[in-house]
Amino acid sequence: MSNFIKTLFGDYIENLYNESCNDIKCIFENLNQVKLQNEYKVLKAFKDNKISDSHFKTTTGYAYIDLGRDGIENLYKDIFGTQSALVRLQFVNGTHAIGCALLGNLSKGDILFSITGQPYDTIKNIIGLNNVNEQKGSLKDLGVSYLECNLKDDGNFDIENIIEILNKNRNIKIIYIQRSRGYSLRKSLLPNDIKDIVKIIKSVDKNLCIFVDNCYGEFTDIIEPTNIGVDLMAGSLIKNIGGGLTPTGGYIVGNTDLIKNAAYRLTVPGIGGECGASLTDLRQVFQGLFIAPHIVVEAMKTAIFTARIFEKLGYDVYPKYDVKRGDIIQAIKLNTSDELINFCKEIQKNSPVDSFLECEPWDMPGYNDQVIMAAGTFISGSSIELSCDAPIREPYVAYLQGSLTFEHGQLAILNSIKKLIQK
Ligand SMILES: *Cc1c(COP(=O)(O)O)cnc(C)c1O
Repeated sequence: MSNFIKTLFGDYIENLYNESCNDIKCIFENLNQVKLQNEYKVLKAFKDNKISDSHFKTTTGYAYIDLGRDGIENLYKDIFGTQSALVRLQFVNGTHAIGCALLGNLSKGDILFSITGQPYDTIKNIIGLNNVNEQKGSLKDLGVSYLECNLKDDGNFDIENIIEILNKNRNIKIIYIQRSRGYSLRKSLLPNDIKDIVKIIKSVDKNLCIFVDNCYGEFTDIIEPTNIGVDLMAGSLIKNIGGGLTPTGGYIVGNTDLIKNAAYRLTVPGIGGECGASLTDLRQVFQGLFIAPHIVVEAMKTAIFTARIFEKLGYDVYPKYDVKRGDIIQAIKLNTSDELINFCKEIQKNSPVDSFLECEPWDMPGYNDQVIMAAGTFISGSSIELSCDAPIREPYVAYLQGSLTFEHGQLAILNSIKKLIQK
């Protein structure tokens, strides 16, 4: 094995590689436990719901009855430990699922209160935080107000401030928590970090609805936020929980009344989740879920390996390799915009799809700076597959996530390091 690395990458990288692999060994043992426990949970749900070949068939038209759709929703409900689930390929992405959860459950006069600071870019448009004309139908346009409280400098909840804001604003209806770091350097949240704040919020008013944006968080831990009192949660099917096989879609899980309201937003009042043809071979949705606990840990291993090897090279990385993770994102602070662009290019060049393309920074809608994105993926834009994005601004941070196999992660990272050292 070692000879193979030496032949491909030379002595210096082989040495770095061996030392890094040695340092991360015991963390991988813990992750293997996480993977085993989550696979147990998933397998049990498949057995309890008697999933069979008949669930994989697609339907057409209104689809009043759709065995596969009901089957997959029952699985999600059991795995997340919630009363209900809405899992649809008609959700165009995670943003759409989060949007339906919020828009369906907030009315004029209500307040949405984020306790993890500014949400992910695309969510700001749902709230109406970007002052542009297109935001007809945003929460702001509907008369829903918004408050926020930043995480403290140490990355933890600002409990005193949160309680004060809750007591002062009796119209707060939904508390918003973003689990993942998104594209920032804050830390990701573990279900256990969320547990205490849920208790505190419920002691102020047990009717407050606590929502979690769970994007990139699924199966990184042995429990999910819904297991510790979160009422409503949403995410994307082309991230963790789709296992790299599910072609598109999003999910919402939570209390039955809240899911019903969200479903009225996905379709229309009166119809909700009762209609909606599966449209595709659902086998990929079931199989993706089945392998997701394994795939998520492959992605986490790539993140940890990357953190260790770049730290050894003298770069700042967030989080460090030995910190417990609540998402699959690895941020690496590179020295110059050239280094950043070259790193992303190298990830693209070492992808199974479109490896021959040069990715370039471009003016992406909704962002102030140019953004570069490397995603040589089987499913367009899938970020459980190895991918990397970065806004071209200081600090020059690359956000790396995914990899369907740790082997792919290692090869892409070693190649990018080889390039970096050559320069
Ligand atoms: C990916 C992501 C979303 C949703 O993004 P989509 O691209 O619409 O699926 C929302 N919040 C966070 C933190 C995310 O990482």
